[in-house]
Order: sequence, then structure tokens, then C-alpha cells
Amino acid sequence: MTDLPGIVVTGASGRMGQMLIRTVLESDRARLVGALERTGHDWIGKDVGEAMGGAAIGVSVTDDPLEALSRAHAVIDFTAPAATVEIAGLAAQARCVHVIGTTGLTAEDIGKIDAAARHATIIRAGNMSLGVNLLVQLTRKVAAALDEDYDIEVIEAHHNQKVDAPSGTALMLGEAAAEGRGVRLENVEDRGRDGITGKRERGHIGFSAIRGGDIVGEHDVMFAAMGERVILRHVATDRAVFARGALKAALWGQGRKPGAYDMLDVLGLKE
Ligand code: NAP
Repeated sequence: MTDLPGIVVTGASGRMGQMLIRTVLESDRARLVGALERTGHDWIGKDVGEAMGGAAIGVSVTDDPLEALSRAHAVIDFTAPAATVEIAGLAAQARCVHVIGTTGLTAEDIGKIDAAARHATIIRAGNMSLGVNLLVQLTRKVAAALDEDYDIEVIEAHHNQKVDAPSGTALMLGEAAAEGRGVRLENVEDRGRDGITGKRERGHIGFSAIRGGDIVGEHDVMFAAMGERVILRHVATDRAVFARGALKAALWGQGRKPGAYDMLDVLGLKE
């Protein structure tokens, strides 16, 4: 039992944090060795099982990442950009695999994470589900097969607590569509249309975000032409798919050489 890879979950009290803790506790391939929250959080010092409303599990929530990571084989992190950048540096010091699900990272944040990946195995994906990663590959292929007569629109829907838009998944899908077309997304993206925007530009990739209720995550990639539309769709109904994907990534990363990886590497979907 004790030689199973030890996992630390950071952002333990969050929606994904709690799902990740349950997923690790239910797994017979990993064990939970730490739960992190930020300094001042009211869960600090409490048993994480009890803080989640269940039985004690013998793991206390801590705000000391370096101490927690020194005992771990991997840290799974679905938190906020500033926290994730900090953990990337500490995980590199602790030689611990860092699985990043956090979205809303800036190019500067990603630069810092990539620098940490020179010394650590980092697996980062805007979406950790098998279905979405398949959708990414399909999007790239369909975008390569259809010319600019087909307008590409990425439409996403999430719960009303989500703070960033477009979602990390929508951006992954937009990147895949741009790659399929052989263009750079930053040169063709249309985000947040409002007011007199003028006609849609040929070859652009549009994004729309819906926010409401408890929607876990829905993504459509629409290819709209005169007389027909092709729509690729993924619907997540349970956050557990992201948590299972993240744990799979943490286990896949064991013994892997330092570098920046994504879920296509983990799932063997890279072409
Ligand atoms: P959430 O419920 O707001 O949880 C975020 C958690 O991180 C909170 O508990 C927050 O604590 C904690 N946190 C913030 N700063 C921290 C720090 N410095 N150290 C430790 N913990 C810290 O959000 P969520 O819905 O779980 O989503 C979290 C992130 O994962 C978002 O970026 C979301 O887009 C992303 N996500 C990714 C995937 C994927 O498959 N890649 C899937 C779902 C969600 P406080 O409450 O005290 O601020």
C-alpha cells in the first residue's frame, strides 16, 4: 500500500479539489499524502475528510506546499493562475510531477511553467477528459479538410461560478482548428462580439461563452457554410471525468523525463 505513488491535491476545498480527493481515495493505484489550501483558509489544520463532511482520513490540510510536496510523487492542481505558477517552481524543486488543470493562464504564466518544466515533469491541459482530447484531434482534422467557406465557431457553456472566458477547453479547440487551417489562432480569433462589429471575416475563428446554473462543461465546434453545418460536440455531465484524467496523468508522469506534456501525450493521441 505505502509504495503506491503519493498524491498531493492543492486547492483542496474547491469544486475540482474535492472531486480529486475523492478520486484519489477511491483509487487502488495511488494514495493521498497531502491536501493544500492557501494561508488563512478555514480548512487549514483540519482533517480533509472531515472538512469535506465525511469521516477522518488522517490527512490534514496544510498551507506549506514545499513540506507537502517533499512527501509526494505528484501534485494535482486545479486552482488559480498565480497559485499554479508558484507550485510549478516548488514542484520542480521537490522533483515531483505537477499536473495542471488550472485555466485562464496568461502567456507569461505559461512561460514560467515551461521554465519549471526544464527540471520537472509537468502535464498541463485545459481539459483532462478523454472525450475532449479526442474532440481536439477531430477538430484539427475537420478544419484541415474544410476550407474557409466553412466559418468556424467555438461555443461553450459552463456553470455560473466560472471566472474565465473563453474556457481553457474552448481555447484548446480553437488552437486545434487554427492548426488544422495552418494559421495562428491569435491572428484570426474573434472574441466577445458586441455592438456593430461589422460582417464576420472569412477565415476567422469565433468564440461564444454561455454561463449559467450548474453546467459542468459543454463545447461545440461548428463549421458553418452555405447550406450545411458540421457540429462536433462534447458534453461533460460529471466533474469526475476531469479528476480521473488528472490522476491518470499523475501516474503516467512517474519516471518520465522532465518536460512540458499534455493529455494527448498521456492518452497516446499525439500524431
Ligand atoms: P474553485 O471551486 O474556485 O476552486 C479553486 C480552489 O483553488 C479554491 O479552493 C481556492 O481556494 C483554491 N486556491 C486558490 N488559490 C490557492 C492557493 N494559492 N493555494 C492553494 N489553493 C488555492 O474552482 P474549480 O471549479 O474547482 O476550478 C479550478 C480551476 O480548474 C479553474 O481554473 C477551472 O477552469 C479549472 N478546471 C479545469 C478542468 C480541466 O479538465 N483542465 C476541469 C474543470 C475545471 P479559495 O476558495 O480560498 O480561493
